[in-house]
Amino acid sequence: MAFDDSDSEIDDFTETSVLLGFPETESKGDDVSHLGGVPTWLHESSPADARLAKCASCNKLMSLLLQLNGAVPESPHDRMFYVWGCRSKTCRRKPGSVRAIRCVRVTESSKQQQKEKENSPVTPAPAPAPPPPTPATPLAGNMLFGNGPGLGDAGAGKPINPFSTGGASAGVNPFSSTPAGGPNNPLSAPTQKPAFPKSPTTETITKSFSSALQLNAPPPPVQEPEPILYGPPEPWPTELQHKFPHFFLDAELETLEPEKPLPEQRIEIDESGDGATSGGAEVADSKLDKVFQRFADRVAQNPEQVLRYERASLPLLYSDDDEAGKLLKDVKDGSMVGKRLPKCTNCGKKERAFEFQLMPHAITVLEGDEMSFDGMEWGTIIVATCLCEPRVKDANGVGWVEEWVGVQWEAQR
Ligand SMILES: [Zn+2]
Ligand SMILES: [Zn+2]
Repeated sequence: MAFDDSDSEIDDFTETSVLLGFPETESKGDDVSHLGGVPTWLHESSPADARLAKCASCNKLMSLLLQLNGAVPESPHDRMFYVWGCRSKTCRRKPGSVRAIRCVRVTESSKQQQKEKENSPVTPAPAPAPPPPTPATPLAGNMLFGNGPGLGDAGAGKPINPFSTGGASAGVNPFSSTPAGGPNNPLSAPTQKPAFPKSPTTETITKSFSSALQLNAPPPPVQEPEPILYGPPEPWPTELQHKFPHFFLDAELETLEPEKPLPEQRIEIDESGDGATSGGAEVADSKLDKVFQRFADRVAQNPEQVLRYERASLPLLYSDDDEAGKLLKDVKDGSMVGKRLPKCTNCGKKERAFEFQLMPHAITVLEGDEMSFDGMEWGTIIVATCLCEPRVKDANGVGWVEEWVGVQWEAQR
């Protein structure tokens, strides 16, 4: 997509709608989202039940890989993500050795907002005039960062860094500070809206979610899933067994060099239809490499990225041959991701959306000097999330939901 701006140095780059996170040793204005370190909570008296951070394989408390502020306009509630990883060598490639937990805090004001949202009629008016020519624009990331460039505001010039602008002008920024209803919390200001029309894709997603809340039609029987935890909560330890060093996150919209155009997002899996008849294994190999090559090429343009964020879009697959890859490889539309994934453990619906993925440079950053053959071995960690409200909340309005994690382990090449 050409960037229609004649007097800016970013002419030379193509910008995508993916928000990249880069590790920083000093704060860029966001003290909440971070790589490694120790978790902080949406309400200080409501830490996670320690069982939510335990490895499903060895049952030991895992290390925090990422804490991400997940405030989005689609949800009036405060959201925070925690991604944990087990460092034990024996747990590698085992299910449950990487987990992603969503914390939600339902406050009185967010409840009020939810009510208003539910009462306001869903107007299926024709989509507002689309922003100036931005072909192929899922732009969920840009919607979060309302003042982002390239959306009919080309005059704004340089990309605005949503991490460093603080709350006032940052729109709804999932990485931004003040999660717990602080004065800058964009979610507590109902008038704050994305500064530009939503893309059709986002519109559809939002609509289908809000119409699900309308409950006009008799809802299909949703089987309530079993609770993930039984019995009394396990207190959060005062001292963590292990923590990675703490890195702040800086965010920038992804830019790609024009001479290296965006690699094809989807490759043809079976061009001829007769892959089985001649050299099937070879064909499979070259397909795997194609997916990996696309991943590597894309990452190589911004090699320091540790995080890719774009809710309701498609993840950048590391492979299409493992469990997560097979589930997602031929999904062409971000709104279809949820249909492929297991139903939400909280609401039982299949409405999860891809939200973010951790990138392999994070391993280098987190492990630093520790890095060795015993280090982590994943290629990417894909997290897909639901917007539902936790069924169980404590006195502070805080509840927890385990989200879907697709760990694409490093290929043994
Ligand atoms: Zn383990
Ligand atoms: Zn749900």
